[in-house]
Amino acid sequence: MELSVIIPIYNEESNIGELYQRLLAVLEPMALPGGFELVFVNDGSRDQSLPLLLTLAARDERVRYIDFSRNFGHQIAVTAGLDRAAGEAVVIIDADLQDPPELIPQLYLKMREGYEVVYAKRRSRKGDSVAKKITARLFYRVLASITHISIPVDTGDFRIISRKVVEGLRLMPEQNKFIRGQISWIGYRQTFIEYDRAERAGGETGYTYRKMIRLALDGITAFSDVPLKAATIGGFVVSGVAFLVGIYTLYSRFVTHDYQPGWPSLMVSILFLGGVQLISVGIIGEYMARLSANVRQRPLYLISDTNIPAIPVPGR
Ligand code: UDP
Ligand code: MG
Repeated sequence: MELSVIIPIYNEESNIGELYQRLLAVLEPMALPGGFELVFVNDGSRDQSLPLLLTLAARDERVRYIDFSRNFGHQIAVTAGLDRAAGEAVVIIDADLQDPPELIPQLYLKMREGYEVVYAKRRSRKGDSVAKKITARLFYRVLASITHISIPVDTGDFRIISRKVVEGLRLMPEQNKFIRGQISWIGYRQTFIEYDRAERAGGETGYTYRKMIRLALDGITAFSDVPLKAATIGGFVVSGVAFLVGIYTLYSRFVTHDYQPGWPSLMVSILFLGGVQLISVGIIGEYMARLSANVRQRPLYLISDTNIPAIPVPGR
């Protein structure tokens, strides 16, 4: 198998038909030597996505599907696709046509120049709300500034990766997946091409703010310890300030004698310290929660039905 295309599906009934047509229109003319497969991962859709996929799979044997037992989330859906994709090269693409399938040949050709990863970088993004654009921009930059590995900014999961990278990903057991970060961590020769991101073709976004915040926190906690250290540094700074204030109080009490017993300063410092402590405990909590999720060693997802055989992980 030369190429696998992984498509996570969450309530995409209005897009699957057009997506399938456009993928075929792009992939068939490429005349890939070993052929291609489309790996649809149904992530607990509540609409008619699954019956649509089953119909396609019955008609076209290049259509593979994995049906989850419930909604596990986008990153886990992609992971499941990676676990069972057979291709020498693997494309990850959104189902809502925001990532144009027409870019796949370019990604593929670039990869053939000797890269293991070619990601598609958003030059512009249409359709997303202003709030989403701003938070996304901010997130990618904050993440880039606090992590050692270079995670490309303004880049989603739309990309092509080689079998080597897929095997690398399959060796990474973490529960809190942040695939674009993991791929950066893996290394090898990586490059990018730029594109203009389209609007969602139909349906609604499956990424609620809750899911976006979770993804952001997964990305940060998995690839940076800076927030933990910031809690320590913040603690030192606040203690330092408190120490100076203490000296100042003693000075005004015994030297200048213009000492006023005042509760406002007391309240301010108590509230400030309380806030700093709560934030620090919260940051530790975020890491702890992920630690405990990984210690539990639960399977990442459960499959209710699929037409793809499992592929064993080499070396494990
Ligand atoms: N998706 C998924 N599980 C989810 C949410 C989304 O598999 O819980 C899929 C969705 O079907 C789409 C891709 O992930 O193929 C990107 O989601 P979406 O377009 O809703 O995100 P946005 O583009 O708004 O960030
Ligand atoms: Mg989208």
